[in-house]
Amino acid sequence: MNGFHIDMNGALYPKQYLVKWLEELADLNYDTILWEVENGIQWETCPECVAPDAFSKSEFKEILQISRDLGFENIPLFQTIGHAEYVLKNKEYLYLSELSDNFQQYCPLKDEVKGFLNTWIHEYYEIFGDVKYFHIGADEAYNLGECSDCKEKATNSSLSKLYIDHINETIKPILEKGSIPIIWADMVLHHFDALDSLDKRILLFDWNYGKHNKVDTLHIWGKKNVAFNNIPEETMKEFGDYIFPDKNSTPEIFYTADYLANKGFQVVTCPASSHYGDNIFASRAQLHFDNCFDSIAKSKQSHLSGFMLTSWTVHMFPWELQRIFIAIPSFLKENPNGAQEEYKKWYENKYFQASLPSFWKAVDLISTPVLGSRTRDTVHNKSNLKIEKEAFSTQLQKAETTTESTKLNQTIKEFEEALSLFQKVRNENSNNTYEVDHWILATKNLITRSQGTLQLLGENQKDNNTILKTSQELKTETEKMYQDKLSPIRRSEIIHWIYDSFHHALEN
Ligand SMILES: [Zn+2]
Repeated sequence: MNGFHIDMNGALYPKQYLVKWLEELADLNYDTILWEVENGIQWETCPECVAPDAFSKSEFKEILQISRDLGFENIPLFQTIGHAEYVLKNKEYLYLSELSDNFQQYCPLKDEVKGFLNTWIHEYYEIFGDVKYFHIGADEAYNLGECSDCKEKATNSSLSKLYIDHINETIKPILEKGSIPIIWADMVLHHFDALDSLDKRILLFDWNYGKHNKVDTLHIWGKKNVAFNNIPEETMKEFGDYIFPDKNSTPEIFYTADYLANKGFQVVTCPASSHYGDNIFASRAQLHFDNCFDSIAKSKQSHLSGFMLTSWTVHMFPWELQRIFIAIPSFLKENPNGAQEEYKKWYENKYFQASLPSFWKAVDLISTPVLGSRTRDTVHNKSNLKIEKEAFSTQLQKAETTTESTKLNQTIKEFEEALSLFQKVRNENSNNTYEVDHWILATKNLITRSQGTLQLLGENQKDNNTILKTSQELKTETEKMYQDKLSPIRRSEIIHWIYDSFHHALEN
């Protein structure tokens, strides 16, 4: 599988933009599209949760047909335990929730949940047709075992058993349809004691945003990052043979894929071209380069079944700014042992027909996550796109002023250097100015946002009004940039999220 994940949790892409990118992805040798459509289709099972500018069923079927005509295998992704905020926040569906004051998760022990999911799965089939694969999400079910019934079951058996019984039940209609069910692998890696009872017909998507180079910690589900020399005993007992396959070698960062394959599952590795922790305007480039190269190389090993490149829209930089990662698999197909430096030359040649070292330097210079531009500073969350006016100021009050000011002063210099490099690339090359203009706009946003944040921390640089005026102009320019990339209502929600609370802080 050479897959690309289209995430419409945050974004809602218009048909033309989707078709343009499907054509590009076909050109880049992708063969599978994972469609996370969430509330982006006019569902009958849950009409209350449908987005105001959601696709009609016939519109979306047309897009899927175009995708099939381009040679893609379409995989629907429907969340069946966690990430259910878009449903459960509607009071009509609260009875399906694990908790009455938290909308993240369905209760796996409620009979009504089973019926509700089953009906919706059939509605997915009505739109997607007879698919080869059906992905039921099932990642990050963080309220597992919290209601009284679930707590009792978990006490009598385990959280792992509670989760796996739910998965084995949920996949029944999918198996009846003759499709291969898929889940994200994080929950069974976090709670692994009942793993032997998980249906082996399930394909596991093992998302891991790690890399090999210059790391001294290992990601362990349920424990975050742990130093190589401090891996807990229970982890070593279960995973040790896979973490240190050769006793003298450095640890295998992608050990979970080997572990799951050895348990008898088909496994697909999942790198990311964008994920939580990036700035909202542009990503941590080196991290994504390393992760994509290492994860895709891993996916080529004979006991694994391919890769799925995830592209999370918790950040709103468009695919134009992720293409530097999205094109990596195509390069690796032509050059299986190709290095990153060769890739950059290949990319320059393909998209710019010129040598552009300044471009890559600039991309790197705007990679640092910085206060005021990260998702958590802009308080976006999936259950509420409307942001409180005071949200940006409130977040800023939690910041450690001296450290953050020093860091901002340094990164602003780097962002300004990047801007002049991008402008140089723009002036010297007439090819692909479209892509470079996106990078220039992202860099201007980062500079102005950082100057404003610094100002709000009490470091006088410019006056509030000058920064506010520039940021208002960037808001207009960014909204224009998104014109062809986001549906109108979603676009205004996103623009509101990115700018309004920041501007409110500057006005006061
Ligand atoms: Zn429950």
